[in-house]
Amino acid sequence: MESNVRVRFAPSPTGPLHIGGVRTALYNYLFAKKHNGTFILRIEDTDQTRYVANAEQYIIDALNWCKIPFDEGPGKEGGFGPYRQSERKNLYKKYADILLEKGWAYYAFDTAEELDAHRKGHEAEGKTFIYNWHNREKGRLVNSLVLSDEEVQKRINSGENFVIRFKIPKDETLILEDEIRGTIKIDTNTLDDKILFKSDGMPTYHLANIVDDHLMEISHVIRGEEWLPSLPLHNLLYKAFGWDAPKFAHLPLILKPVGKGKLSKRDGDKLGFPVFPLEYTNKETGDVSRGYKEDGYFADAFINMLAFLGWNPGTEQELFSLEDLIKDFDLKRVSKSGAKFNPDKTKWFQQQYMQTKSDAELTELYIPILEEKNISKEKIYVEKVISLIKERAVFIEDFWELSSFFFEAPTEYDAKNVKKNWKEGTPELMQELIAVINNIEDFSSENTESKIKAWITEKEIGFGKVMQPLRLSLVGKLAGPHLFDIIAMIGKQETVARLNNAIEKL
Ligand code: GLU
Repeated sequence: MESNVRVRFAPSPTGPLHIGGVRTALYNYLFAKKHNGTFILRIEDTDQTRYVANAEQYIIDALNWCKIPFDEGPGKEGGFGPYRQSERKNLYKKYADILLEKGWAYYAFDTAEELDAHRKGHEAEGKTFIYNWHNREKGRLVNSLVLSDEEVQKRINSGENFVIRFKIPKDETLILEDEIRGTIKIDTNTLDDKILFKSDGMPTYHLANIVDDHLMEISHVIRGEEWLPSLPLHNLLYKAFGWDAPKFAHLPLILKPVGKGKLSKRDGDKLGFPVFPLEYTNKETGDVSRGYKEDGYFADAFINMLAFLGWNPGTEQELFSLEDLIKDFDLKRVSKSGAKFNPDKTKWFQQQYMQTKSDAELTELYIPILEEKNISKEKIYVEKVISLIKERAVFIEDFWELSSFFFEAPTEYDAKNVKKNWKEGTPELMQELIAVINNIEDFSSENTESKIKAWITEKEIGFGKVMQPLRLSLVGKLAGPHLFDIIAMIGKQETVARLNNAIEKL
């Protein structure tokens, strides 16, 4: 099916991608796939002062790990490239010139010091300085709207620094549409004449973003709420160029788990959870930030959790595969209000996904960990172990703690449990138990259970008297799955050896 839906994720490569950015990418991806459209990655790297060399690769790796790859972008040409703005820099000047010609833009020569003085002067009076017609009429600004043509030419020819600004119309009410927020009305007198182009030959975000969205035939701009204040200007830019504007959807902020405001890396550090999809090393400071991947999260659990930060299906269902998300995702069900991040819920998703993974799949993930410990066991054995322990696991890393006794005898015994359960007479009882076990032919879980229980009943002693020391001998602590499953798995010889070991050591 043909589709005109083309959406883009347009990060600036200034560092690792925050989970808010991943959520923006995800919603763009879901929207594109739902409508058989195209998901584009555009790297907005016009601000060279904030450029970080490994950030682009980080972004691409993060999207790939999340299994939401882009269809067009750096390295994946689709007829609309290049997809890095730094490689497109020669095309933007032409568009600034068009606006100059049409009277929608003008040259401005105000120095940083002058603008700073205006700002401070306004602040001292409790006002906010806006670079617009008002201050122009007050004679405070130095630009081509107040200077003569010759003066402007002279300044440009002499190499004086200038910028090109957008001329916001005076006394208009803009009626803007947002797919999530509905109709928004803005008084143009509250808007700044934003800079579009700098004398270093580089466009600003606003110009490059609009030109590229137009040239790349973007149909829907889906981005974070922090860009909502730019919507009036962007809307006017489309009007100034005479282009059709795409539809806009501004996603709600992701909020701190406690307190007010946007979720930050500091919240993660303080409360002990990552805010980045992948681990990130800051090359300058050497600081390493945790990532969901390295913390042991499954990508599908992470994605499911992220999808729910601002969207819900309107039903009770919480577990959604990527395919389900594509099917059910709808911008109409994205909320306007911020979404509180909940680290416990993230863990809950991870645990749920752990249960849905097949034992065979988990076995492949566990075997390398076992190999590191020099343990080699048949796959079928490891698979069985996983089936017995996985309901208690959240991460693959939990497997060893939950299952080490299936692979090796305990090297220590929990002191508290020993004190409570290894009593006088226990060694003799365990000796008798060894004799019973040695006589069991069929060593299945069911059969050992019925034989050992029959013996306990016959001896007329409490079950705990036998079962607790037996568990301690086999596991080292009073934990783990059904004891007779453990016995059947490790086998008769090993069971007896561990009992002898405990008798000797305790
Ligand atoms: N480069 C902007 C950012 O870093 C893109 C904003 C937009 O999507 O328009 O988020």
